[in-house]
Amino acid sequence: MRLLVTNDDGVSSPGLAALRSALAPLGEVLLVAPDAERSAIGHAITTSTPLRVSEYLDPQGGFIGYSVNGTPADCVKLALGSIHRSNPPDIVVSGINRGQNTGTSIIYSGTVSAATEARILGCPSIAVSLGSAQPKDWSVAAEVACSVARLVLARGLPERVLLNVNVPARPREEILGVRITRQGQSGFEEVFHIRADPRREPYYWLAGAFRVTDVEEDTDAWALEQGWISITPVSYDLTAKDALAGLEAWRSELWSGTSPQASVPKRRSPKSPRPGTM
Ligand code: MN
Repeated sequence: MRLLVTNDDGVSSPGLAALRSALAPLGEVLLVAPDAERSAIGHAITTSTPLRVSEYLDPQGGFIGYSVNGTPADCVKLALGSIHRSNPPDIVVSGINRGQNTGTSIIYSGTVSAATEARILGCPSIAVSLGSAQPKDWSVAAEVACSVARLVLARGLPERVLLNVNVPARPREEILGVRITRQGQSGFEEVFHIRADPRREPYYWLAGAFRVTDVEEDTDAWALEQGWISITPVSYDLTAKDALAGLEAWRSELWSGTSPQASVPKRRSPKSPRPGTM
């Protein structure tokens, strides 16, 4: 098996190193990751500037993988579409992210977007995040990443579906177990700090803290906060299927014309002039 790892915290993140080590028993671990932190960059891709790929080496000069001056989605595109095109990985694992990716955070997450990109390109994928902004111990999340990856490799995933895995930042014995969840509505409670730069011009800096507002026990943020490992099947089909039927009733008010097929003029006899054109 070949497993590609990437992330959004950057190639030197300890979470990525922990992930590489954890996945090593499953096969050959390939690495293509951003050269610096790209957290909260979502699914951005680079199309107006060149992408540069550098070898990423260990302190002894041993080859680990590649770093890219691009986004997490760029890294996956490059890995599957060019670098490893001839011998593509069997799975892409993104993480381990420093901080949870639950609720609306999924939209902004480079970690989840890397996994999403892999799935769009047809490769099974998972995103793994650890529920702490200052993690000290990556070992439990790394173990979970390996378990989930092993099962995905063995059983595959439904089309267009990736797994978003969030692991509580707790000692192993304090983890309650695994819950299969849905994306909740929790998110960052954001605040703009306004300060003055050395030229006395104001600048704005977005800050805030993640707040769990979900109370339903089937949501990702609730489960994680309670101490469960949360696994959410995520799709990149953003259609709000529940709203389709309701919107059908709007159609007649949105466009009053008749469709071209319905308004094809009937053939007229040349000898019967149109009214009012004599
Ligand atoms: Mn991150």
